Amino acid sequence: MATTHYDAIIIGAGQAGGPLSTTLAQAGWKTAIIERIHVGGTCINEGCTPTKTMVASARVAYLARRGADYGVHTGPVTVDMVKVRQRKRDIVNSFRSGSENRIKSTEGVDLLMGEAHFTGPRELEARLNSGEVQQLSADTIFINAGDRPADPSLEGLDSVPTLNSTTIMELDTVPEHLLIIGGGYVGLEFGQMFRRFGSKVTVVQRGVYLLAREDPDVAEEVAKILREDGLEILLETKPVRVEKTADGHIALTVQGPTGERVLTGSHLLLAAGRVPNTHICFWQRDVFPIPTGSICLQAKSRWTNAASSR
Ligand SMILES: Cc1cc2nc3c(=O)[nH]c(=O)nc-3n(C[C@H](O)[C@H](O)[C@H](O)COP(=O)(O)OP(=O)(O)OC[C@H]3O[C@@H](n4cnc5c(N)ncnc54)[C@H](O)[C@@H]3O)c2cc1C
Repeated sequence: MATTHYDAIIIGAGQAGGPLSTTLAQAGWKTAIIERIHVGGTCINEGCTPTKTMVASARVAYLARRGADYGVHTGPVTVDMVKVRQRKRDIVNSFRSGSENRIKSTEGVDLLMGEAHFTGPRELEARLNSGEVQQLSADTIFINAGDRPADPSLEGLDSVPTLNSTTIMELDTVPEHLLIIGGGYVGLEFGQMFRRFGSKVTVVQRGVYLLAREDPDVAEEVAKILREDGLEILLETKPVRVEKTADGHIALTVQGPTGERVLTGSHLLLAAGRVPNTHICFWQRDVFPIPTGSICLQAKSRWTNAASSR
């Protein structure tokens, strides 16, 4: 199969990948960008943009409920998740197509929709979503492969339906009681959002504080605000096992400072961190040597020699 050679190939059309592809092409580099799902990556499609549109809807619900505090009487507040979701989808689609059009309209960039794998030094195979397979090579290959939600290991996890940061934004009803494993940015953003939509919310956090990377006094203030909003925040608490109850609910057993207790909810969000997408890019370690001067990344004992200087 013929190999197409580029000055630069970018794997992943996320935050950096798209603008990098157009900038390189405008500087005269023959460039290809390979994206397996959708242009815009996590931020536009599953991260910043959709969460903030839904946070905005949740804030409106929150303010509407508090209308009387401001002297405004609004009546009973109900949340239509189908409409919230459609608003989110529309904004994501418009942002994504803007990014996609910018790449497509730039001369010198080939946008390939499919999955990239290394096959050798500076060589890639792109398995396109159309079914076609292309062999590519480049002087410089940029990896912008991003990350994805981590699956925590927890007894019984296979026996219950779970949500992650992407699937929770596709719900069409407000959960009755949302259990959240993880008190980081993602868990708390969705926790507050769904509390404001009307769910009961319980956050299970292993650490002494929420938001492990923040200063303790900041984390304490955040916990205070969320508790005022009505979230149940369990600190120094580890999930032990999970199972489905006879009536279809989710029973999450947790171990906290005062011993074990069982939390029963309608939905379970796993927000226990993210893992890099390196395992997708880097394989066939044994079929080629790692050249001197390349940047080698180790992920689950797999290596790549993707990056090199021009
Ligand atoms: C729920 C949530 C909310 C967030 N909110 C914010 C926020 O408000 N503000 C903020 O600054 N950040 C936020 N973030 C973080 C932000 O989304 C990420 O930091 C950012 O998207 C990372 O960009 P990236 O380019 O590194 O990776 P990504 O955006 O993930 O892009 C990587 C791309 O590579 C593609 N890819 C991977 N492997 C291959 C392969 N083998 N072949 C072809 N393509 C491949 C993927 O499909 C993806 O499109 C949020 C994240 C989440 C999950």
